[in-house]
Amino acid sequence: MAIDKELSLTLAEAEKVSVIEIKLKAMLDAGFRFGAYRVIRRSIDARGRSIKWNYKIRVYALGEEIPPEIEIRVFPAVGDNKRVVIVGAGPAGLFAALQCIEQGIKPIVLERGKDVQQRRRDLAAIHKEHLVNEDSNYCFGEGGAGTYSDGKLYTRSTKRGDVRSILETLVQFGASNEILIDAHPHIGTNKLPKIIAAMRMQVIESGGEVHFQSRVVDFQLNGNTIEAVRLADGRVVKGDAYILATGHSARDIFELLYKKQIAIEFKPFALGVRAEHPQSLVDSLQYHCSVRPDTLPAASYSLVHQVGEVGVYSFCMCPGGIIAPCATAQNEIVTNGWSPSKRNNPWANSGIVVPIHWQQMGGFQQYGPLAGLHYQKSVEQACWLAGGSTQIAPAQRLTDFVAQRKSASIGRTSYQPGVESCDINKLLPEHVAFHLREGFKAFGKKMRGYLSEEAMIVAPESRTSSPVRIPRDAERLNHVELTNLYPCAEGAGYAGGIVSAAIDGERVAMSIAASLFA
Ligand SMILES: Cc1cc2nc3c(=O)[nH]c(=O)nc-3n(C[C@H](O)[C@H](O)[C@H](O)COP(=O)(O)OP(=O)(O)OC[C@H]3O[C@@H](n4cnc5c(N)ncnc54)[C@H](O)[C@@H]3O)c2cc1C
Repeated sequence: MAIDKELSLTLAEAEKVSVIEIKLKAMLDAGFRFGAYRVIRRSIDARGRSIKWNYKIRVYALGEEIPPEIEIRVFPAVGDNKRVVIVGAGPAGLFAALQCIEQGIKPIVLERGKDVQQRRRDLAAIHKEHLVNEDSNYCFGEGGAGTYSDGKLYTRSTKRGDVRSILETLVQFGASNEILIDAHPHIGTNKLPKIIAAMRMQVIESGGEVHFQSRVVDFQLNGNTIEAVRLADGRVVKGDAYILATGHSARDIFELLYKKQIAIEFKPFALGVRAEHPQSLVDSLQYHCSVRPDTLPAASYSLVHQVGEVGVYSFCMCPGGIIAPCATAQNEIVTNGWSPSKRNNPWANSGIVVPIHWQQMGGFQQYGPLAGLHYQKSVEQACWLAGGSTQIAPAQRLTDFVAQRKSASIGRTSYQPGVESCDINKLLPEHVAFHLREGFKAFGKKMRGYLSEEAMIVAPESRTSSPVRIPRDAERLNHVELTNLYPCAEGAGYAGGIVSAAIDGERVAMSIAASLFA
C-alpha cells in the first residue's frame, strides 16, 4: 500500500536523485519493502537564509502496481443530433467543446480571431507597427487570452479534483507533466500555442466544428430563447444551446446585450499599472543572494497592502517575463505580462492593482451596467494619447511615481512597442493613483529594495477581470432570462484565469448536457 512522505532538501541535495531515495528509505518502517516513488508536490521555501525544496512523495511498495500519472480522456465521435454553439475559443470555449464531445453533443465553436499560427503575425504588427487588429491580438484569436498568456495555472478554485482534471487534460494535449507537481505550475507562452492547437484538432477529429474569423454580431431571439447567432459576414448559425465564452475584452458583446435589453450587471474589477524590476534584483531580494544559483527558478513575489478599506495587491507576476501590449482596439493602451517556460528574460513584471467598485464610477454611472467598461476605456485612451497615439505606453520610474514627478529619464523596459516618460499619476483616476502610491511605499518596507530607482511602471493594467457580469441561474447556469444562453467564464464574471475559465467551461457544458438529455 503506497504511503506519502514529506521531504525537505537543500539545493545541493535536491540536485541528486539518489539523495531522495536514500532519505526516503531512511524514513520508512523496517517492514516496508521499497519499490518506487513518485513526486506528487514540489515547492520552494525561500523564507529562511537557507533555501529548501519541499517535496511530497508517494512511495510504492515492491511489486505494487503504480497507477498512471494521468487519466487519459477518451473523446468519442459525435453525431449531429444535438448541437451547442460555443462563442469564443478561449480556455472556457475549448474545454466546453471537449466536454460537449464527452457528453455526446456536437460543439460548433465560433471564434472571431485567427488560428494560433496566423495570430503571431498580428501580434508582431502590434509590437513593430503599432497596428491593432481588432479581431486578432493578445486577447482575441484561437485559445483566447490564454494562448499568448503567461500560462500560470494557479487558481483560487478550491475544488482540487476539478483543478487536477484540467491540468491532466493540458498534459494530455502536450503540457509538461511538471505542472502536476509544482506548487505554482507554469506552462510559458512559447509552449501554449501547440497545446491549444492540439485541443482544437481533437474537437475537429471527434466531429466538432471550429470556425475562425467568425465574429458573432447578433443574437436572433424568439421569446426567451435564442434561435440563432448572426456573424459579421452574414452567416447564421443555429444550435440547441449557446455558450457565451467571449472573455472580458469583448466589449461589443456587452454592448450588444445591453442594446437588446438582455440583463447584464456592473461588476467590480481592479485597475493599476505593471511594475517591472530587473529579475536579478528580485532574485537577490527573495533569495538573499547576490547571484541566483542555476538550480533555482527566477524569483517571484506576491504583495498586498491594506490602505484603509482598500487592498492594493500584486497580480499575475511574471518572473523572467515581458510586459505585453494587449489592446483590442487601435486607440487604447492595455498592458499585461507573460514569460517563456524558462522564465529567462532579464525582467520581472507584475500587475499592481486597486479594486474598483460602483462608488468609484462617478460620472460613469450614467452608463449603468456598462459603467466599468467606460471607466476602463477612459484610462486606456488617456494612456494612448499620452504615448503619442501609438502603442507607445506611458512609463515612469517607480520612485518618481511615488514622489509624483515625471522621470527625467526612463530606463530600459521589456515593453517592445516603446515607452514615453509621463507622470502616470495624472493619467489614472485619483482613487487608483493615491492607493497605488501608498501601496508602493508599503511594499518598499515589506520587501526592502522593491521601491527602487531601477524599477519602472508602465500603464495601464486595466483588464484584470470583467467589468460586467452576465447573470445566470445558480443551478442550471443559463442566463436568468434566456433559457438556452449560457454565459460562461471570465467575460460573464464567473472565472478569473485559465484554470477557472476551463473549469467553468466544463461545468456549463455538463449543465447543458443534463438539460438536453433530461
Ligand atoms: C498577456 C496575458 C497573460 C495572462 N497570463 C495569465 C496567467 O499566467 N495565468 C492565468 O490563469 N491567466 C492569465 N491570463 C488571463 C487568461 O488568459 C484569461 O483569464 C483566460 O484566457 C479567460 O478565458 P476565457 O475563455 O473566459 O476568455 P478568453 O480567453 O478571453 O477567450 C474569449 C474568446 O472569445 C473570442 N470572442 C470574443 N468576442 C467574440 C465574438 N463576438 N464572436 C466570436 N468570438 C469572440 C475571443 O476572440 C477570444 O478568443 C493572461 C492574459 C493575458 C492577455
